[in-house]
Amino acid sequence: MCQQTRVDTVIPYYERFLKRFPTIATLAKAPEDDVLALWSGLGYYRRARLLHKGVREVVSAYGGAMPSDASARLGLPGIGRYTAGAIGSIAFHKEEPIVDGNVKRVLSRLFVIDTPLGRSDTENAFWEKAQHLVRGDRPGDFNQAMMELGATICTPTSPRCDECPVRRHCRAKKEARVYELPVVLAKKAPKIVQVVAVIARAVGDDDAAWLQRCDQALFGGLWNLPMMEGEGRDDAQEALRKAGLRGKLSSRKIGDVVHILSHRRMHVEVWTAVVTKQRGTMTRRYVRHKALKALGVSRLTQKLLATGAPPSEESCSCRSRRAHDRAACG
Ligand code: SF4
Repeated sequence: MCQQTRVDTVIPYYERFLKRFPTIATLAKAPEDDVLALWSGLGYYRRARLLHKGVREVVSAYGGAMPSDASARLGLPGIGRYTAGAIGSIAFHKEEPIVDGNVKRVLSRLFVIDTPLGRSDTENAFWEKAQHLVRGDRPGDFNQAMMELGATICTPTSPRCDECPVRRHCRAKKEARVYELPVVLAKKAPKIVQVVAVIARAVGDDDAAWLQRCDQALFGGLWNLPMMEGEGRDDAQEALRKAGLRGKLSSRKIGDVVHILSHRRMHVEVWTAVVTKQRGTMTRRYVRHKALKALGVSRLTQKLLATGAPPSEESCSCRSRRAHDRAACG
């Protein structure tokens, strides 16, 4: 949960997750929808799906116990070098390294690794150094100390070298190159993606919307509004049609939402539609707003639904929705 997400954001999610899934067995048995529902709002849903898949494999292939062997751990879905090292060193007290962004910064300064971050030779150099350093009977504590050193002392812009416990060994400090390291290449600008989304409802029903389960990589497994890349009314109509819904689309979009992901910036036009008779299917459901919590719904969908929410009493003086529509306020 903490990969790409701040700890204080994660804590309430983590607590709810462990309350609902206190053991590997309960998590393995749970339907994916329940897992995604508890992840809803954290983003990077692939992590939740892989965690679930990995745990199921731990149950089916290893009788519910995480394998202590590093190569077996690395063969599990969702477990890469970092997670394998975290489990190996913290849970099994094995001399396995962990390299995260904080550790890379510390190592690049300690040993003057001055090739750019992200390049395979640079990454290999970090793992080699980390493997060399993690020795003794408390490898988990050592790894966590390295991460903490990077997070609190050897920070990106104001490293506190005078208080640093490893300053005597630091080559960058000796060579006055601390501020040059690590070498970071300029990031690519995020790709802008134009999207249309449709809040489709039964006539006069503001408290529900049709959602479809998305099987594309970006929001795979989550329930989303009918949406697709595109812009304008024709594309919104097409998004509705592709979701298997028939209805009357609003004559104009009701708003625009910008949603920023790590490498994309989504510009979403929000449209509404009144859907005439339609049936739910495995991949399409008419969901009441209060039931959204029980489903895996992306933050984007929550934002889009808020755009189409009925006017609140504070923002509108009309006494009923019909009066509001006639006055065209809000
Ligand atoms: S001496 Fe300074 S640059 Fe070197 S590891 Fe410590 S905080 Fe980082």
